[in-house]
Amino acid sequence: MPVTNAFTIDVEDYFHVALFEKHVSRNQWDAMEYRVEGNTDTLLELLDRQNVHATFFILGWVAERFPNLVRRIATQGHEVASHGMHHVRATEQNPEDFLQDILASKHLLEDLSGQPVRGYRASTYSIGRNNMWAFDLLEKAGYEYSSSVYPIRHDLYGWPKAPRFPFYPRKKEASNATLLEVPITTLEWFGMRLPCGGGGYFRLYPLAFSLWALRQLNQNEGQSAVFYCHPWELDPDQPRITGLPGRVRLRHYLNLHKTANRLHRLLASFQWDRLDRIFLPPLPPTPPERVPPLS
Ligand SMILES: [Zn+2]
Repeated sequence: MPVTNAFTIDVEDYFHVALFEKHVSRNQWDAMEYRVEGNTDTLLELLDRQNVHATFFILGWVAERFPNLVRRIATQGHEVASHGMHHVRATEQNPEDFLQDILASKHLLEDLSGQPVRGYRASTYSIGRNNMWAFDLLEKAGYEYSSSVYPIRHDLYGWPKAPRFPFYPRKKEASNATLLEVPITTLEWFGMRLPCGGGGYFRLYPLAFSLWALRQLNQNEGQSAVFYCHPWELDPDQPRITGLPGRVRLRHYLNLHKTANRLHRLLASFQWDRLDRIFLPPLPPTPPERVPPLS
């Protein structure tokens, strides 16, 4: 039986990305041209054509402005999960602010989607060894899993020695912490960890390499991959931010015109599903509504 992989999307706009934080300030966000709704609809169509259900980690900022988009994602059978409210890294929040943010985004998305929000992804994979308290607060807020660790070395994020596959970061012998961390996929290759879970790397590498890496993971290790992308990565016509250093420009705009076709081929090459269906136990069925007795 083929291994099923998790397809995930971080629903945010092109100007929310960490690479732009020095170039587009937060108070400019509302004056920018929004592209996130149209680009997410493109992804929804792509998934629908391949009959794939995915997990959407939706930014609260986006949900507040496009509530119907959240409803469409849920109605089409996808998992709605949280990407926090304002795209602030967990490393830049104190525990009180973090708890408020994860509670607010959970409630907002549950109200809009009518489904329980079980998962959370931190902005810029910003949970690691130095802020393990974040896992405790996620559990306290009622989340069942986090997908916030990229176990590689990287300039913006990374916890290079973290386990490569799902683990319970706070479970000790004496405690029964149940929050599961589901890291982004890497491949171990001659002692190196290669990132192969999507994002900029997927646009940088030739498609053949990405397909090969996931096949290695599925066939040799028998593990499910966790792949991620952003709606703006399918949008070569997005407004250009001016004054960016060459390195930032190259990373953000690289191969945007190839992404839709590459994703189409990636989806066709493997079996995919929502993250919760692969890694979490199924939710108990909701009890049928009680019919009031006839008087
Ligand atoms: Zn993000």
